[in-house]
Amino acid sequence: MDHEVFLGLGSNLDTPERQLCQAVTHIAHLCGVRLHGVSSVYRSAPLGYADQPAFFNAVLRLSTTLPPSALLDALHGIEHEHGRTREFRNAPRTLDLDILLYDQLRQEDAVLTLPHPRCHERAFVLLPLLELAPDCVIPGRGPARDWLPGCSNQAIEKLGALEIGETHSNH
Ligand code: ADP
Ligand code: MG
Repeated sequence: MDHEVFLGLGSNLDTPERQLCQAVTHIAHLCGVRLHGVSSVYRSAPLGYADQPAFFNAVLRLSTTLPPSALLDALHGIEHEHGRTREFRNAPRTLDLDILLYDQLRQEDAVLTLPHPRCHERAFVLLPLLELAPDCVIPGRGPARDWLPGCSNQAIEKLGALEIGETHSNH
């Protein structure tokens, strides 16, 4: 499992905390993925399109043998299983799975941008990410912690640990 990855999970529909718990289990069972850390859950006000329920977010730390595009395909498969539809940008969603960091890789193509282009400006990414990796560096942006003060206007509340089931993978 040679690549270190941080994933961002988000949900604001259909019992969001349950969506996040189930997603963690699904991700932990993906072939070629090992789960190393699960952050606390954070609840925050929606950004962009305000007329929707609060968001629940968490970050996972993984190691994987999958290349970035295969990992993204697998994550899209899990979003789909959770009934995710894409209606408009920033729309409410049952499950959003984003690759925040893949090693220190920087890439930009039609389907995948690494690091995630907005990860440094979102408190709901930075706070859980820093829980798992306090010295984390965002390639091209510098230490993640340096971006926190710029998010101080975002309303966010730390809830607690996710109650996840069996995450031990057979792979
Ligand atoms: P968002 O997460 O920005 O609200 P979506 O989840 O609908 O939006 O994703 C839109 C597209 O973003 C996806 O189809 C995917 O190809 C692309 N994308 C680009 N970079 C990433 C990334 N780092 N992680 C996840 N998706 C990404
Ligand atoms: Mg997404």
